[in-house]
Amino acid sequence: MIDAARRQIVTAGIKMVEQKMIAGSWGNLSIKIDTSRCAITPSGRSYDSLNTEDIVVVDMQGNKIKGALIPSSETPLHLAIYNAIPAAQAIVHTHSVYASACAALHRSIPALIEDLVQIIGGSVDVAEYALPGTKVLAENALIALQNKKAALLANHGVVCWGISLETALMTAEIVEKAAHIYCICETMGGAKLLPESDIAIMHDFYKQHYSKRQIEKGDDVLE
Ligand SMILES: [Zn+2]
Repeated sequence: MIDAARRQIVTAGIKMVEQKMIAGSWGNLSIKIDTSRCAITPSGRSYDSLNTEDIVVVDMQGNKIKGALIPSSETPLHLAIYNAIPAAQAIVHTHSVYASACAALHRSIPALIEDLVQIIGGSVDVAEYALPGTKVLAENALIALQNKKAALLANHGVVCWGISLETALMTAEIVEKAAHIYCICETMGGAKLLPESDIAIMHDFYKQHYSKRQIEKGDDVLE
């Protein structure tokens, strides 16, 4: 179980570098192994040189259980989300360009495109600024997340959670795409937003059908 989680994180890290979702050693990924442990990327290491044994295992208080390296400096953010949202099984934190642009503007990504509202259920909101790696940042992120799967971190980046690392990554990609579209629309007079009633319909439809696919795939954790 630990080895599988470590392998998934290494593979996902390489994918995120290839997609230009992260650069250098910034951003971080984690998987909840069980109710008392999670695997997380180490601090200050480039994703393209990570080995499975470099992925650190910590308990839900942040104490290191396995691994020689120091866990990500954003471990408190990951643990706060796991502890507050039992459905969260994986977390992706990136500094992707367009989401970070919205975060620097302290501007939510509005409900402007269908795939975003299907997966998020509305806008992606901005957490109040706090220094990176702090408990305050984690608290502010939880407020901005509410019952959603993504939030912007002011002047910093974006954090997403999912019922698997695959879905957390997909959410990070969709948020980045929506942020990109939003930035384009802002130069062309502004986007026309989706109606609230239709957002609810699309989000409910996505949850029902996505959950069904997860059951068919044999995943044991559902929303
Ligand atoms: Zn960061």
